[in-house]
Amino acid sequence: MKRIYFDHSATTPVDKNVATSVLEYMTDKFGNASSIHSFGREARRAVEESREKVAALIGATPNEIFFTSGGTEGDNLAIKGVAFANRKKGNHIITSAIEHHAVLHTCDYLEKHGFQITYLPVDEYGMIRLEDLKNAVTDKTILISIMFANNEVGTIQPVKEIGAFAKERGIYFHTDAVQAAGNYPIDVKADNIDLLTMSGHKFYAPKGIGALYIRRGVRIESIQHGGAHERNLRAGTENVPGIVGLGLASEIAKNEMNNRVERISKLRDKIISEVSSNIPHTKLNGHPKLRLPGNVNFSFLYLEGESLLLNLDMKGIGASSGSACTSGSLDPSHVLLAMGLTHEVAHGSLRISLGHDNTEEEVDYFLEVLPEIIDRLRAMSPLYGESAELKPANPCSNCHVH
Ligand SMILES: *Cc1c(COP(=O)(O)O)cnc(C)c1O
Repeated sequence: MKRIYFDHSATTPVDKNVATSVLEYMTDKFGNASSIHSFGREARRAVEESREKVAALIGATPNEIFFTSGGTEGDNLAIKGVAFANRKKGNHIITSAIEHHAVLHTCDYLEKHGFQITYLPVDEYGMIRLEDLKNAVTDKTILISIMFANNEVGTIQPVKEIGAFAKERGIYFHTDAVQAAGNYPIDVKADNIDLLTMSGHKFYAPKGIGALYIRRGVRIESIQHGGAHERNLRAGTENVPGIVGLGLASEIAKNEMNNRVERISKLRDKIISEVSSNIPHTKLNGHPKLRLPGNVNFSFLYLEGESLLLNLDMKGIGASSGSACTSGSLDPSHVLLAMGLTHEVAHGSLRISLGHDNTEEEVDYFLEVLPEIIDRLRAMSPLYGESAELKPANPCSNCHVH
């Protein structure tokens, strides 16, 4: 059976050219970038060239790029590193209710260590309000951490406005840009971003490699101690193959950015418009316009996201959902709940995340099989009556295993 991958927000396939260069730096050019012999110097050169490519992707300078093991480490280093280094100035951090767990659980941890965290609410589209941000600031606020684009619903935050405000108030601004970096244009200088997290496997580089941009002059301390790697900020032998892969993926992403954004957005808009007009009792989640090029997120009333995913999988289509049963936790997506969805509606959500490897034929096939699956699942649902009004029900009535 033909298989279709619609889950690029979870991870992407590694670009073939990227994989080739990663392999080269595992086998022929395997040196430790800290060694002084020619093997080491060869690896060092590759690391520094990659730093330039990653910097160019987001408008930074190379000495502002620090390689990490990925998005989770980048978020931890940015938030804990700034929090601990600026503790004398204040102990207040502002973030949002819809952040990735790499940010939310880092903030939980800091709360146990004497920091105060404000979680900004979002509107029905998953957007923070600048008024709320302005009202949340105190004379103890040292950091604002708001994601660039949401991984579930794709909403792009008013990053430029947040950056301008943070700069005016002398507060550091960190953004988790793991979904946006390499998939959407970013300019850290124009947007006044002080720290930005990116991760390779969300834009066609391998898993386990990422980078943190730290504007020159930001006060930060390390959270992992050891050797003097990455200018004493991030100890540990450099993942040279991963770094080379991240560099090449960044270079390709920069060159292909406009083409990819245009082509992927068209596929996204086709899905959104066809599903909205052909499938009743359907709600688009996320902002209608300000969303990632590849993100589609719908709630289909009267069904469980998990059943929908399993049925799509039987047709060879890999997608994802914010439903409890798939994420392995009892609660539906914290993002959808923060946007005001009820548990029932949040449970029937489906996320399609497109990549540049997807084709219009794949989209057409999906649009052909989706209505049949939804009709069949709804026909089995005790909630889907003639009047098709949503009745209150056990939010997880079809889930047996958690
Ligand atoms: C995937 C993701 C992360 C985690 O990145 P890893 O490299 O998988 O650790 C963090 N934030 C967002 C928004 C993500 O989508």
